[in-house]
Amino acid sequence: MSGAPFTLDTTAPVAELAAALINAPSPSGHEAELADAIEARLRETTHLEVLRHGNTVAARTSQGLPSRVVWAGHIDTVPANGNDSATIADGVLSGRGSVDMKSGVAIGLKLAIELVDPAVDVTWIFYDNEEVESSKNGLGLFGAAHPEWVKGDFAIVGEPSNGIVEGGCNGTLRVEVSATGTRAHSARSWKGDNAIHRAQEILDRLVSYKPATVDVDGLAYREGMNAVAISGEWPATLFLICAPSP
Ligand SMILES: [Zn+2]
Repeated sequence: MSGAPFTLDTTAPVAELAAALINAPSPSGHEAELADAIEARLRETTHLEVLRHGNTVAARTSQGLPSRVVWAGHIDTVPANGNDSATIADGVLSGRGSVDMKSGVAIGLKLAIELVDPAVDVTWIFYDNEEVESSKNGLGLFGAAHPEWVKGDFAIVGEPSNGIVEGGCNGTLRVEVSATGTRAHSARSWKGDNAIHRAQEILDRLVSYKPATVDVDGLAYREGMNAVAISGEWPATLFLICAPSP
């Protein structure tokens, strides 16, 4: 993109808007121009309060409705790989970001502008740096700076889900567990205490743990706790990923 400021036609059909978003390359760390274009369109409305934080743009209705839905979508993509232009073939839109997640951004942006009289108050968040390390994540930084803007009763994220509604999303907790022992020559093992063998106690706990299934409005929300790596030198170390239930 160069020359005149990039603009978006949000009155176009949503697939065309998605194509226009794809044609505005925004790999992580290079979202400013796209954020500018999104902000400019949102600021033209009269029903939305708009807030910019870095390259994250948020907008919200404040009609005093009893509940609020927070919608969030990231505007960055992983780097293009010869696919930085949108194409439509056999009714399928392709191009970097078409799935993850500029089609979702197109829907969110169009709804943000057109839903002037929503049934619930809505907060729309278009954020940067989702595809890179979490310390740069625009949604996290925005929420830390403006916590009142991310509060809601329900949240929708337009991530790829193959066209279905996927309820909930596991958070993660990464744990590193080490078993320690006492070194000994393998020919005199009675003099030592084998740290690798002690890892069995950790695995036993994992195997016997019964992950909870929590019912959220009819959705079976499954907890998970898994060992994902083990290193058996000194000390024996397990890496666990826990996906706690809500
Ligand atoms: Zn994504």
